[in-house]
Amino acid sequence: MSEEKLDAIIVGGGLAGCSAAIVLAKAGLEVLLIERGDYCGAKNMTGGRLYGHSLEKIIPNFAEIAPIERVVKKEQVSLMTKDGALDIGYRSAKLSSEPENASYTVLRGEFDTWLAQQAEEAGAMLLAPILVDKLLVEDGKVVGVEATGDQLYADVVILADGVNSLLAQQIGMKPELEPHQVAVGAKEVIRLGEDVINERFGLRGNEGVSWLSCGDPSDGNFGGGLLYTNKDSVSVGVVATLSDIGHSDLSVPEMLDRFKEHPAIAPYLEGGKSIEYSAHLVPEEGLAMVPELYRDGVLLTGDAAGFCINLGYTVRGMDFAIESGRLAAEAVLRARELGDFSAQTLSYYKTLVDNSFIMRDMKQYKGFPTLLTQRAIFEDLPEIADDIAGKLFTVDGKPGDSVIMYAVNLIAKRTSARELVDGITKILEAF
Ligand SMILES: Cc1cc2nc3c(=O)[nH]c(=O)nc-3n(C[C@H](O)[C@H](O)[C@H](O)COP(=O)(O)OP(=O)(O)OC[C@H]3O[C@@H](n4cnc5c(N)ncnc54)[C@H](O)[C@@H]3O)c2cc1C
Repeated sequence: MSEEKLDAIIVGGGLAGCSAAIVLAKAGLEVLLIERGDYCGAKNMTGGRLYGHSLEKIIPNFAEIAPIERVVKKEQVSLMTKDGALDIGYRSAKLSSEPENASYTVLRGEFDTWLAQQAEEAGAMLLAPILVDKLLVEDGKVVGVEATGDQLYADVVILADGVNSLLAQQIGMKPELEPHQVAVGAKEVIRLGEDVINERFGLRGNEGVSWLSCGDPSDGNFGGGLLYTNKDSVSVGVVATLSDIGHSDLSVPEMLDRFKEHPAIAPYLEGGKSIEYSAHLVPEEGLAMVPELYRDGVLLTGDAAGFCINLGYTVRGMDFAIESGRLAAEAVLRARELGDFSAQTLSYYKTLVDNSFIMRDMKQYKGFPTLLTQRAIFEDLPEIADDIAGKLFTVDGKPGDSVIMYAVNLIAKRTSARELVDGITKILEAF
């Protein structure tokens, strides 16, 4: 590899890294994107739904040319017990009515490969598979990276190396992850065929479903199940918070098996063929885990910066990753104009992030991580919902309480008035 100094080195060919590379390469900078996987997306995982608005800013109408799987037109959330599920479904013309509010199911292998191609077509150089071992630091300033024994220099390094970001940890920009800050996700892609999916899920053409659930899938653990429809397959997964996994006797892969066998899920998967299995960490602590975003010569983006929120009814990290990659690139372009890559100049990145939807949403939902550690949501709520729905929809001619009295007694048996008020207050605070 050459000894010459590049304009920018980006570590990590996920969504954050590829987005930064596209913007910088389009502006004419000499950009090197380094990915440790055999190809971009090889090591990446997501549940399945990409909110399109942030990529629209970089590649308008990208869905017309990108390998998206389906357009999400149907939302479903379920509270699950061992053998029951209370579903809330939503279908409306409002969902994905225009590119700016559309969301798409994606498979990262194909999608990230395509996004990296966009970066290469814009002029970025891609090195894969190459693992960056460390950052080069001179006089407190990041000046490049070391990979497979080679030293590569650049004005600035953008870290887009995912949730662990060992490189940011090496230079003390972020601490080691703690178990309560991350969840483990395990996911299987099951091929069913396009027509079978449309028929079973009540879809037409390229319409897709996003289906999240809590309760039984994670065996009462903090976490939940997910199911997204792809073109001819479905992504089925379970997410469980690391610090809470000991609460259940089940491992995460066993939780996934249990989810697939649940009576509300199994009929949809019947006859399917498993074609992919993956596991990954999800940053879950929200605003509280966002580290330093910049230092002399270096910026942190995407999951590496903790930009992800789990709202129970949806998980969002991909739109944050893309936006933060774009904003990091904007900050680098300004630093280049000023000829100064010091922390002071690169602090413009934080200003951009603070004024973007990333921080607005991370702040708005900062109470969610605490809410999602309420065991009542994963244990009591699904059971109560199941009992009440069972009462409501069962007619057996026997005497008994009205549904309202039945519900009041049921809730009183499981929780005190004080816990109930606390719980409702936490829910209100979280929104
Ligand atoms: C189970 C699960 C479900 C999720 N569901 C959703 C969802 O439905 N919607 C949503 O928006 N978000 C979801 N997320 C979150 C989303 O997937 C992430 O927020 C997003 O992928 C972050 O993108 P990124 O580019 O920052 O990091 P990543 O996609 O992790 O990319 C990091 C890249 O850096 C590379 N890399 C790491 N270290 C090095 C190194 N030293 N040298 C070279 N390369 C390196 C990796 O190989 C990888 O390609 C989910 C996550 C999980 C795990």
